Amino acid sequence: MKLTQDKLVVVTGAGGFIGGHLVAALRTRGVERIRAIDVKPLACWYQQFEDVENVSADLRERDACYAVCDGATTVFNLAADMGGMGFIETHKADCMVSVLINTNMLLASRDQAVEQYMFGSSACVYNAEKQTFPNVTALREEEAYPALPEDGYGWEKLFSERMCRHFMEDYGISVRVPRFHNVYGPYGTYDGGREKAPAAICRKVIEAQWNGSCQIEIWGDGQQTRSFTYIDDTIYGILRLMEDEVTEPINLGSSQLVTINQLVDIVEEIAGLTLKRTYKLDAPLGVRGRNSDNRLIREKLGWEPSVRLEDGLAKTYAWIHQQMRSGPTDRVALAFTRA
Ligand code: NAD
Repeated sequence: MKLTQDKLVVVTGAGGFIGGHLVAALRTRGVERIRAIDVKPLACWYQQFEDVENVSADLRERDACYAVCDGATTVFNLAADMGGMGFIETHKADCMVSVLINTNMLLASRDQAVEQYMFGSSACVYNAEKQTFPNVTALREEEAYPALPEDGYGWEKLFSERMCRHFMEDYGISVRVPRFHNVYGPYGTYDGGREKAPAAICRKVIEAQWNGSCQIEIWGDGQQTRSFTYIDDTIYGILRLMEDEVTEPINLGSSQLVTINQLVDIVEEIAGLTLKRTYKLDAPLGVRGRNSDNRLIREKLGWEPSVRLEDGLAKTYAWIHQQMRSGPTDRVALAFTRA
């Protein structure tokens, strides 16, 4: 389906990181009717656009989901109560409650004849036993089973993936289920406890530079590995999946595997300094190693994420630096409106 037609497109989680970028991209592509929803007050959204219908609503509530799906043909569900490892390992119940969002959004989509539905899944669905070494074999889609996902957050994602599949089989909604791998970029969380490794390391390097401590604390021993996906690749991939007929869960992630120490090396290089490293071994860590196997997305789309970590981090670092320089870090102060 082409998204540029005069159809109502709903984006949930639009006040957050990926949702805000998706709304921006849809506008750029000429989508004229966009309804953007987030539980946060409008003043706290990372990106907000005047020509979009912006709604503050709690999508755990059934009635709210029915109201926002009214008249929609396409739904991008990116709303979830989530964050980096520091959040999801200590808020497992909250993460699982996000199942209400996807459940009520699917029911509302079914009852209001939504044609296409995208659910933002995660690499956290993969079986933990496949991720016990830093030099990990990249994960193929089928390795989510037998199920042993990240406790709490990953179980919710895996359950919601299956619910999408069954709504497609039983009710004919055409679903898309990208599994995001560690997305990073500007206009996302970099402090407050929900931030993820790339943004947290950018912030810590900037703080060390400014306060003269010349030190950085790294969670774990720094040898754990991940791949990190720049937001532009994630958004491009989401839109390509919507336009192509790819209804099964699919990796949407970079395959550039790095250790956390290498991630710090890159940020230090961008900042032009070298810091003394200390390692917090009892910090929340998640799995030992994880990478995205991109055979399926190459086969289906003839494309895979390609932005180099060095390039994406330079843009992310510059944005976080500018935000931190501009003063208080509460979201109200940082919120702004893009015309
Ligand atoms: P984010 O936290 O920046 O955005 C999620 C938004 O959902 C937030 O703005 C939040 O306020 C909103 N939300 C939470 N509960 C809500 C509710 N009850 N009603 C309405 N809105 C609610 O996170 P993000 O990085 O933009 O992630 C978007 C989606 O992608 C999420 O489903 C997330 O689990 C998934 N995902 C993200 C990553 C990543 O690396 N960023 C990786 C894997 C999966």
